[in-house]
Amino acid sequence: MISREELLRILSRYDERDIKIVTICSHSSLQIFHGARLEGFGTIGIALRGNRPYYESFPRASPEIMLEVENYKDVLRKEFQEKLISENALIIPHGSFVEYVGAENILERFRVPMFGNRLTLYWEGDRERQRKWIMEAGVRAPRRYSSPDEIDGPVIVKLHGAKGGRGYFRASSPSEFRRRLEELKLRGIIRGGEEYVIEEFIPGVRFYPHFFLSLLEAPNLPGLEHGRLELLGMDRRLEIIDEVYRGLPEIIEDYLDYTVAGNIPVIVREKFIVDLLEAAARISLAARRLFSPGLIGPFCLETIYHPRRGFTVFEISARIVAGTNLYPMGSPYSPYYYDEPMSMGRRIAREIKRAIELGRLSDLIY
Ligand code: ATP
Repeated sequence: MISREELLRILSRYDERDIKIVTICSHSSLQIFHGARLEGFGTIGIALRGNRPYYESFPRASPEIMLEVENYKDVLRKEFQEKLISENALIIPHGSFVEYVGAENILERFRVPMFGNRLTLYWEGDRERQRKWIMEAGVRAPRRYSSPDEIDGPVIVKLHGAKGGRGYFRASSPSEFRRRLEELKLRGIIRGGEEYVIEEFIPGVRFYPHFFLSLLEAPNLPGLEHGRLELLGMDRRLEIIDEVYRGLPEIIEDYLDYTVAGNIPVIVREKFIVDLLEAAARISLAARRLFSPGLIGPFCLETIYHPRRGFTVFEISARIVAGTNLYPMGSPYSPYYYDEPMSMGRRIAREIKRAIELGRLSDLIY
């Protein structure tokens, strides 16, 4: 793993008056570039050749410099990294960046300073480690079953080979589990032999709150020992299964798919904000204990609310999530912190700007 010292050595040679904000043109990049431009930063987009004109067509969100690649993994090439470093580049990682370049490649081979703590990639990328993190935080998590034979109620089965929710399925007994697995093999969705996780299926309402943890500011919540925690927005993913009623009565099967197709805005009953902030503070504290300095900047908790059980956290995304794209001019929550439009992309740029002013940029980079 590339050490933080090595990256901070590279950062120490940067011209802090000419930092450029860089990311791959995908996922939440328009919002990231838009926010960076509002805060006065130069921007660099990394685009696949065919995508370039589309990303250049947004006058207020296109990056000033475009670097074309054949394949996103080209960013790992030595000359490419040197070019980024010579431009004083700070990478903003998003879901597609991590997915296309690969968490292990980023940890082992990518020497460009990145906003945030690289160790989060290691902790969130593996389901077992992520579970340890959620347990350490002491927030409610779905029960895990170690074998299909233990299934004694509704479960959701998450296959490693089935990317992004396609092929996830529900079952309520060991025999139903086996039957559904066989069906997925016959339909060619999985090959067989994939690893999977069997998790208690939580009935309830999903909320995906977006947080920002600023290490530059003093704690603002009970129990929070470091950083200021802001709730900057909230969404709900729109998954294929959400429209299952449209397949009634005969094409249900095709709708039994948890693939994300988009995001819709949502707010939570106001008193529940307390529960969500409390859970986020616990997750932040646990991150600090497990992989210092812990979380830096944006993260999201994927939660389900059930009237008797309260909120269950079934996943952490330790970076900007695509649901924040709903709020380029701020969300129903951001005005309670800022009297100007504050998207997550802009909030990241604001943090970098403030860190430069304070001479603390190195605190936010790994
Ligand atoms: P990503 O990495 O993009 O977050 P993923 O492939 O890891 O996605 P999850 O986010 O874990 O998948 O789950 C996909 C969807 O499945 C969720 O958005 C939610 O709708 C549903 N889901 C996941 N876990 C549970 C659970 N324990 N109970 C009920 N529904 C769940």
